[in-house]
Amino acid sequence: MALILNKTGLDRLIHFLGNDGYNFAAPVMDGGKVRYKHVELVEEVETDYVIPANSAKEFFFPQTETIAEIEIGKTNVELTPVEPNAPRTVIFGVRPCDAVSFASLRAVFTWDFIDESYTKRADNGVIISIACTQGDDSCFCTSVGLTPDATEGSDILLRETDKDDYIIEAVTERGKELVDTYKELFIEADHKAKPIFSPAIPGEIDLEKVAAKLATTDHYGDPIWPELTRKCVGCGACTFSCPTCHCFDITDEGTAFHSERKKNWDACQIDNFTLHASGHNPRDTQAKRWRNRFMCKFHIYQTKWDQKGCVGCGRCIRVCPVRLDITEVMEEFSK
Ligand code: SF4
Ligand code: SF4
Repeated sequence: MALILNKTGLDRLIHFLGNDGYNFAAPVMDGGKVRYKHVELVEEVETDYVIPANSAKEFFFPQTETIAEIEIGKTNVELTPVEPNAPRTVIFGVRPCDAVSFASLRAVFTWDFIDESYTKRADNGVIISIACTQGDDSCFCTSVGLTPDATEGSDILLRETDKDDYIIEAVTERGKELVDTYKELFIEADHKAKPIFSPAIPGEIDLEKVAAKLATTDHYGDPIWPELTRKCVGCGACTFSCPTCHCFDITDEGTAFHSERKKNWDACQIDNFTLHASGHNPRDTQAKRWRNRFMCKFHIYQTKWDQKGCVGCGRCIRVCPVRLDITEVMEEFSK
């Protein structure tokens, strides 16, 4: 028998999880935009949204974190690693495309080195996704092989019913464990409980053709790159908002006596990202920087990690100040 989560159940779930030491995050209205944030009350949880403005990656891969403390004496330097703060965290209301991105990030952060800053947080996380019942002009999950009710990356997938309840599907063992632990908060679904139909998101693009063109370097000098990307101002908003973008920089910040080693998000769209100490910059034009990001999404992620580099969330389109639309580049490369 299927189980249902209703608003009363959600209220109690937030309360019970808090008592059991979990952090709880969900989409909330914040400054006129829906964003994933920590919440304590069910009244804060927003349920009418296409997709939050920020990606949920920041709960496992924060914008900035201290990874070591450095004491600098007259004759010695002491470096003390800082353990990542990894509280048990439930992220509720994640869109299925965002959930898929967690598998992509894990592949990167466990590839040639286990980045425990990411894995310890992600291992303590439970992802409760809600299947989409609406999309907007920027959504294109179906063009990258996903669906509005994809389960990959979710521990629990909820499907909304016409009564504003959610039908629960436990996807992973972690999800099943959470449903079992708090089963008294859920009610049994009657035979009339039906999920609202997921929207059909238009726009099919032949990704195999895109990948085939990116598989060689023949396109490197193609004038298509400067033509398609000439309006890009290199602000980096697309990368910071993207759920699969994962680049970071390490900097020591402080004084001559004490400093903190920080891991901060970085963005391949910013001009000094690949600037060498010599002054040489191998990606010295915005077209080259854009080409790199596009190749990361549609070639490198697939060939190196067998994962999706783009989940079709559309954030990079919504935030771009010059309306540079990645699907237009995909279409051009799928011809
Ligand atoms: S490239 Fe754009 S559409 Fe694709 S996952 Fe990143 S932000 Fe979303
Ligand atoms: S958000 Fe737009 S303008 Fe800014 S770096 Fe990305 S593509 Fe360029």
